[in-house]
Amino acid sequence: MARKRKKYYTAPFTAKQALGVSAALLGILFVLTLLNEAMGTHLPLPSVAQMQAVFDKMDLPGVEWVDEILAQSPTSGGGLAAAPTQVEGDLKVHYIDVGQGDCQLIQAPEQNILIDAGDQGLGDEIIEYLEAQGVERIDLLIATHPHADHIGSMAEVVDHFEIGEVLFAQTPNSLLPTSKTYERLLDSISNKGLQITKAQPGNRYDLGGGAVLDILGPQREYLEDLNDNSVVCRLIFGETGFLFTGDAGEAAEEDLLNVYDSSDLQADILKLGHHGSSTANTSSWLKAVNPKYAVASCGKDNSYGHPHQEVVQRLEEMGISLWRTDQTGTIVVGSDGANLDVQMERQAA
Ligand SMILES: [Zn+2]
Repeated sequence: MARKRKKYYTAPFTAKQALGVSAALLGILFVLTLLNEAMGTHLPLPSVAQMQAVFDKMDLPGVEWVDEILAQSPTSGGGLAAAPTQVEGDLKVHYIDVGQGDCQLIQAPEQNILIDAGDQGLGDEIIEYLEAQGVERIDLLIATHPHADHIGSMAEVVDHFEIGEVLFAQTPNSLLPTSKTYERLLDSISNKGLQITKAQPGNRYDLGGGAVLDILGPQREYLEDLNDNSVVCRLIFGETGFLFTGDAGEAAEEDLLNVYDSSDLQADILKLGHHGSSTANTSSWLKAVNPKYAVASCGKDNSYGHPHQEVVQRLEEMGISLWRTDQTGTIVVGSDGANLDVQMERQAA
């Protein structure tokens, strides 16, 4: 016999009180998150960076203390090995493991390029890694687009290193973030007396020793999705090529396919768009780029499920090997213009 249902209570508190309780719970969760990372325990909690992203989105007044704590807190990256790499070749590309986010270093014969700088709280770790590689000056600093997982720690990088040029994509005003992270980056850039150059498709950067970087996108302003406004660029050294896409999605890929021949897009290594999301990395795009290897820059057990299974399967069917920073840590590829030499921080489990 079915039991008689209990009567529901009416909540004994007001909406305002409920909001207060939620804020307090969020605060407690944040403290637990900090402790979890500080003590190196691996409780199933969100990362500090994820919590920061939540605070950032809420844009609550009076949470500057979060930024202050973060500046001193241990980081949520994959633990960069701050030792110089051993790969062969005059050119090196580092797909730096910054957890859920993007950060790639190109060491060309005469210039250093940094594309994105991970989420918040990773400044010290990124600086330490770059210094261990002998980087003193960043000739070209590219922010693919102003989402926190790409520009989170860029202000610290700007403050620390000598910077040649800063490259941003032209982004519709309606999509520009109002986050403190973004404002802090703009402040750091102007405090250094630097100007921001807009990424211009067709522009070519001579990196010395025969290495060049071509800006391919964004082809236009995308009003729907900030990700599609990502800077897309291709590095060519001899016969070897590397394509970087930020978080560009399907719409951006389609425009690039309309403008360029496959020979202009082809690359040995493709950094997958948007951490390997199925909103990017279409079959026709992968076919045109025709890479041997694809890199998904993503965090372990990230809440987005990146890289998406659909993309993983697509790569498998096309015979493209997938490297994931969440599994292998930082990936460094050396090129002598003909051959690639690869070193990973650890073996994928
Ligand atoms: Zn991203």
